[in-house]
Amino acid sequence: MRIILLGPPGAGKGTQAKLLKTYFGLVHISTGDLLRKVVAENSVLGKIVKQYMDKGDLVPDSSVVELLKERLSCADTNKGFILDGFPRNGAQAEILDNAFKEKSLDIDYVIYLKADEPVIIQRLSGRRVCSKCQANFHITNMPPKKEGICDNCGSALYQRSDDQEESIKNRLKVYLSETASLTGYYLRQNKLLEMDANFEATIVFEKIKSALSKKY
Ligand code: AMP
Repeated sequence: MRIILLGPPGAGKGTQAKLLKTYFGLVHISTGDLLRKVVAENSVLGKIVKQYMDKGDLVPDSSVVELLKERLSCADTNKGFILDGFPRNGAQAEILDNAFKEKSLDIDYVIYLKADEPVIIQRLSGRRVCSKCQANFHITNMPPKKEGICDNCGSALYQRSDDQEESIKNRLKVYLSETASLTGYYLRQNKLLEMDANFEATIVFEKIKSALSKKY
């Protein structure tokens, strides 16, 4: 099964991707994670990518597409995958369609996680991430047992630089201008499953499972 997760930042794409990965045995591919890895390497490219990410702007298509194609060429993706954070504009969607056509593959579902702005802002501004294992927490929705420390590996938690108020506002603006129209693109392909993602993650996941089982 090949799934795209679409939706604004803070809709819960990463969380749902992890749940889908475990439940269906799929590979989770997050272009945000791939880019954060490049930034962590501190190379010339990493420094350029960081500037876009810190502001909440989209990284140029060429860099993201190259990273994604490299990841999709790995053998583990044969068992199916969830794309989280890609595509983010019309050009990326067409590049993806063409890449799949070349391999006679197709996307099965595009799950559109729809969430309201106050919910998004509350989720993103309170998010904390483990500096080592990347586990996600939330200061009120899912606090770690010990403040600032990861429950899983004991490393320090940090706030993503693009989870600051100014970046969040810009990411939402970029989503509306660049990404939101992709729902129409996939609706026309009859692949879109719209889900109300304002609820707690486990409830949203149950709704996704039920919608997918009806489609099968
Ligand atoms: P995410 O982890 O999906 O919230 O992505 C974090 C940031 O990475 C975004 O705000 C963008 O700066 C960048 N990014 C992730 N995916 C893409 C993409 N498909 N195209 C361009 N930039 C991206």
